[in-house]
Amino acid sequence: METRFVKVTILSSALAEALTYKLPEDITEPLGHRVIVPLGKSTAKGLITDWAEKPDFKTKTISDFPDSEPALTPPVLKLAKFISEYYFTPLDQVLLTMLPKGKDPIIDVSAIEKEGHFQLDNDSPKLTRKQNEILSYLHENGTTSLNNLQKSLGKSISAQIRGLEALGFVTRNKRFPKTVERMEKFVSMPQPVRDKGIQIALERINIRAKKQMALFHKLLNADEIPMKALLTEFSKSSIDALIDLEFAEVEDRPVNHSFTGMVLQEKKREFELTDEQESALRRIGDSIDGDKKSTFLLHGVTGSGKTQVYIEAAKKVLAMGRGVLILVPEISLTPQLFGRFRSQLGEDIALIHSAVAKGIRNDQWHALRDGRVRVALGARSALFAPVQNIGLIVCDEEHDGSFKQHNPRPYYNARDMAVILGGFSDATVVLGSATPSMESYFNSKTGKYTLIKMNRRVGNVKLPRVHIVDMKEERQVGIKGSFSRELRKYMDRALLTGQKVILLLNRRGYSTFLQCNFCGHVPHCPDCSTSLKYHITDKKLLCHICGAEFPAPTTCPECGHAIIRFVGRGTQKIEEEIRSIWSDVPVFRMDQDTTRKKGAMVDILQSFGKTRGAILIGTQMVAKGIDFPDVAVVGVLNADIGLTMPDFRAEERIFQLLTQVAGRAGRSHVAGNVVVQTFNAHSVPVQCAVGQKFMPFYKTELEKRRGFSYPPFSRLILIVVSSDDDIKAENRSAIIASELERIFYHTKMQVMGPVRAPLERAKTMYRYHIIVKTGSIRKALPTIAKLIDDDKDIRIQVIPDPIDMM
Ligand code: ADP
Ligand code: ZN
Repeated sequence: METRFVKVTILSSALAEALTYKLPEDITEPLGHRVIVPLGKSTAKGLITDWAEKPDFKTKTISDFPDSEPALTPPVLKLAKFISEYYFTPLDQVLLTMLPKGKDPIIDVSAIEKEGHFQLDNDSPKLTRKQNEILSYLHENGTTSLNNLQKSLGKSISAQIRGLEALGFVTRNKRFPKTVERMEKFVSMPQPVRDKGIQIALERINIRAKKQMALFHKLLNADEIPMKALLTEFSKSSIDALIDLEFAEVEDRPVNHSFTGMVLQEKKREFELTDEQESALRRIGDSIDGDKKSTFLLHGVTGSGKTQVYIEAAKKVLAMGRGVLILVPEISLTPQLFGRFRSQLGEDIALIHSAVAKGIRNDQWHALRDGRVRVALGARSALFAPVQNIGLIVCDEEHDGSFKQHNPRPYYNARDMAVILGGFSDATVVLGSATPSMESYFNSKTGKYTLIKMNRRVGNVKLPRVHIVDMKEERQVGIKGSFSRELRKYMDRALLTGQKVILLLNRRGYSTFLQCNFCGHVPHCPDCSTSLKYHITDKKLLCHICGAEFPAPTTCPECGHAIIRFVGRGTQKIEEEIRSIWSDVPVFRMDQDTTRKKGAMVDILQSFGKTRGAILIGTQMVAKGIDFPDVAVVGVLNADIGLTMPDFRAEERIFQLLTQVAGRAGRSHVAGNVVVQTFNAHSVPVQCAVGQKFMPFYKTELEKRRGFSYPPFSRLILIVVSSDDDIKAENRSAIIASELERIFYHTKMQVMGPVRAPLERAKTMYRYHIIVKTGSIRKALPTIAKLIDDDKDIRIQVIPDPIDMM
C-alpha cells in the first residue's frame, strides 16, 4: 500500500502549524484520532486533523494510538476547525477545550484462543517476531493491560498489537480505573404497600402519630429518598416505626452515577399534547424525517410547554437510532430539566457541567463516545460532548448570554455553534425561548431559521398580572425598605393562604455596598475599579472581579465621618428584612453563596417546592426555568440595575429578565401577580415586559439597533487591550485602532475607540476597548490578526460577537 501522510496538531504546545507524519498502514480512519508522535528528542501528544500530501522532507511515523477509535467525531472535528478560524483561536487550544481532561481508560489486551491456529513453539509465519513475543507473553500471563505490556516488552508495541487484533489473535477492551464507590442508604415503599395506598396507613398507623403519617405520604409519592434527606425532616424513630410496620424498606447501594444532589426527581407524567405543541412537533418532525434539516426558533411564551416539545422530538430521534444533544444556559436550569428528560425518555442521559466530578465526566465522555449513552444534557461545554450520530440539537433559553464563553479562549457562543454543528451533523436544531434574542428573531424573519410560535400557556392558564410600582413615589411618601406597599399587600395575601412567593434581586455584585452618609464615598477595589460588596456574616468587603477581601471600615476612609450605611441590598440583607416583617415565614435564599456547595441548589429548590407559604429570594438564577405550580407572587425588587450599564443590550436584557421572571408566577390554577419595582416605570422594556409584549419591544429595539448599526445589522469584534502599565495599554490600543482605521478606510467596516473599558481595571490590568463593526467577521479578522502580537506586557483579546461589553 502506498504510504499515507496526515497532519497532526500538537496539543499543549506553542506550535502554530500542524506537523506532517507518516500513518501506520493498519489505520484506516485516522481523522480525529489522538496520537503520540515523536517530536525532537522526545514524544508529544497530538490529534490528527487532516490528510496531508506526501511531503518533500523526511517525516517520522506516528508512534502510538492510545484510543481504539477517534476521539472526535467527523462533525466535531469540523466544528473545531470552524471555531478555530471564526473565534480566532489556535486549533490546539480549541481541541483541548473539547477533549476530556480526566484519566484515559485502561486498555486490556487478551489473547484469543483458536484451535490449531496458533502454536507457541511454531512461530506463525504471518506474524513478526515481536508479535509472537507478545502472544507468548499473553498466554503465560493472561490478560494484561497495554501499559504493563509496554513496560515488559517495550514502548513501541502498540502497532504490533493492532496488527494482532486485525488478524484476530487478540482483543482490546477499555476499562475504567475503579473510582471509589460511595454507598448510601435509600428508603422506599414496597410495591404491595404502594398498591394498597393510604387505606392501609389509616388502618395501621396510630392517628396521633402525625409524623409517621406524613412520612408515609412522602414515601408513597416518591420513588425513593436518600436516608440523609429524610433525617433532616423526620426522626430516626418515625422512620424505624415505618420499617417495623414493613411500610418502608432500606437499601444500601452505590450512589447513582453520583448525580445525587443535581437532579430534581420528577415523577413520570403523561399528558396529551396541546394543539400548539402538536403542530410545533409536526413541523420539527418533518425536518427530522426529511432530507433537508432545518433550524427552528421556537418562540413560546413561558409555560407554553416548550420542554415537552423538546422531549417528544428527542424520543422521535432516538427511535431512529440517532443521538440527542440538549444545551441549557446555566447549571441552575439543569436539575428540573434533567429530571424531566430522564423520566420521560427512559434512558441514561449524560449530565455535563462543571459541578459533575471530573472522574464521572470522563466516564460519561467515553460512554457517549462508545455509544452506550445517546443523550447529553448540559451547559455550554456540552456542545462538545461526543454524542454519536447526532440527530437533534436543542438549545433552550437561546437568548441567554451565558452561552458565550468569556474566558479562556475560544470565546465561542454555544448557541451559534449549535447551529453550525447541526449543519455539519445533518441534524435538526431547535432554539427555544420566550424572549428570543434580537439576532435569532431577526434570523427567523430573514428565513435563516424557521419560526414556530406558541402563544398560549398549557391549560390556557392566564399570564400573570403585572403591576409596576414607581419607587420614586414610594420614597416620596416615606417608604424606606425594599418592599413597596403594593408588593407587601400581594405577599401578605399569598402567604396567608399558604401560597409561595419568589423575590428577584437583580445582580448581586451591584447591590450591597457601603456608602458614607456624609461625603458619598463608596469603597472600590484598588485593582478592579468596581465597588466592593459588603458581606454581613464576616463583616468583610469583597471584590467580585478578583476576589480580594478587605475588613469593612467603621469610619469613612475619605472624610472620617463615622456613619456608613448600606446602599442597595444584597440577598442576605433582604433575607433579614423579610424576617423582620414576616417573622414566621420560611425563607429560602438562592444565590452564588448558598449554591456553591454541590447539590445545594437542588436542596433549596426541593425544600422550597414542598414548603407551604414560603418565600424564595434570589438573584437572576430564580428567574429562569423554575417551575412550581403554587407560586402566586413574583416580586422584582430592583428592576433598574442594569439599565444603567454601558451596553447596547442593556434594555434587551431587562426585558428578557422581567418577562422570564414574570413567567414563574401563576403556572397553574393559582392566579399570578407580578410586582415590578422600578425607578424607570415608563421605559420601553419595563412597559413591554408587563404584557409579555414581545413584538412591540422587538420592533422598537430593532429600529434603535438599525439606527446605530448594531447587531443584527452588523457584526462586532471587540478588541480588549490590557496591561499592568496604563500608558502602554493606552498607546498600544491607539496604535491598533489607527492602523485599523487606515486599512478599513475605503471599506464599510468601522472602528470605534479606543476607550477605557467600562470595567477599567481587572486583576491589576488596565483595560481599553476597540470595537470593529463589520458586515462579516471572517473578512475583518485577517487584518486584525496581522496587528495583534501579544508581548509579555500587553494582553490583547479579540472577541468576535461579544456579549459582555464591560
Ligand atoms: P415552558 O418551557 O414553555 O415555559 P414547560 O415546558 O415548563 O413550559 O411547561 C409548563 C408546565 O406545563 C410544566 O409543568 C409541564 O409539565 C406542563 N405541561 C407541558 N405540556 C403539557 C400538556 N400537554 N398537558 C399538560 N401539562 C403540560
Ligand atoms: Zn478586585
